[in-house]
Amino acid sequence: MTGQRAQHELIGCNDCGSGVSFSALACRHCGSREPAGPYVESSKERRLHRIEEKNDQTLIGMMVLCPGIGFFYGVVMVGAFAAFGYGLLGAIIGAPAGFIINVSRRLLG
Ligand SMILES: [Zn+2]
Repeated sequence: MTGQRAQHELIGCNDCGSGVSFSALACRHCGSREPAGPYVESSKERRLHRIEEKNDQTLIGMMVLCPGIGFFYGVVMVGAFAAFGYGLLGAIIGAPAGFIINVSRRLLG
């Protein structure tokens, strides 16, 4: 017998301490419904969560701001009709710009 390789990593049950599969829905020994214990967000996960929230704001902000700037520029420099073209250009620039800001924030943070 070569021995069966464990398919699931065993963890100590949160309630009774017995070995229980991490993916188990309930502990085989004490019947605990949360053998892995209540899910706790690590500080890293919390931070990523906050960054993601900020990223959404950045993306929305850029997608409003850039077309706004383009539209304003178009109105001032060319005229109201062409302003829509500049607004569109702003949107085309703004979306990836927001995306790049978000990616760099994640890399730096
Ligand atoms: Zn247990």
